[in-house]
Amino acid sequence: MHIIETRNLTYAYPNRPPALNGVNFIAGRKARIAVIGANGAGKSTLFKHLNGILKPTSGEVLIHGEPITKANLREVRKMIGIVFQNPDDQVFSPTVEQDIAFGPANLGLDEETVHHRVESAMRLLALDDLRTRPPHHLSGGEKKRVAIAGILAMEPQVLVLDEPTAGLDPQGVTDLIGFVNTLPERFGMTVIFSTHHLDLVPELADYVYVMDRGAVAAQGPVPAIFSQP
Ligand code: ADP
Ligand code: ADP
Repeated sequence: MHIIETRNLTYAYPNRPPALNGVNFIAGRKARIAVIGANGAGKSTLFKHLNGILKPTSGEVLIHGEPITKANLREVRKMIGIVFQNPDDQVFSPTVEQDIAFGPANLGLDEETVHHRVESAMRLLALDDLRTRPPHHLSGGEKKRVAIAGILAMEPQVLVLDEPTAGLDPQGVTDLIGFVNTLPERFGMTVIFSTHHLDLVPELADYVYVMDRGAVAAQGPVPAIFSQP
């Protein structure tokens, strides 16, 4: 069974034509999946369905074969962590370490476990030196690392990254690629990301979905899709 499967997923924002129209999307364990497509193609809207932020207008989102319901929403949010494009939407605590602790503390884990996860996540993202800094005063790239650390400390099975390299300098992009690529082997994690940078796709993904105006226009293994004329 797949970790994530959408079936005929259709979604319209209020009083708007459908932003998603019959999307079938599958993600298995340890998969590395890129979702590409022009601005407005529906990438973010698709991602927001994967942990129940948005509810389908029609069609289904299945997590381990089960539809998302009120009863399992908490479990789903624990399994599927999303890092949004603009880190300002996701960092809000007085210090970096408090910010990273917010998610795991919210899962109801005991203090010692939260502490351990925060320390490990800070180490993984090289944030030790910033631990007492207010996150809203950090650079865009630093904020992004804080946002990723906060999600990682929840130990999700799936990490969803919306435009992870937006606002990063070239070194930041290289570091992010190196880090994200360790996750499937290290933790058995599935990584799903959207990007405008096509040169990033072969570096970070094995499989790609091409979205166009709310639909999947093409999909397949990265070499197959990228060798087409
Ligand atoms: P992408 O992430 O590929 O740029 P989005 O999922 O953000 O695409 O947008 C898909 C479509 O939905 C676009 O037409 C966009 O204008 C519209 N849309 C996105 N968010 C909202 C919203 N909150 N309210 C109304 N329309 C929206
Ligand atoms: P340690 O916890 O022994 O210090 P690491 O330094 O390798 O181990 O980092 C583990 C950290 O990685 C966790 O605390 C958490 O922040 C992150 N992580 C994310 N997903 C997982 C996972 N599925 N299993 C373990 N750690 C995970």
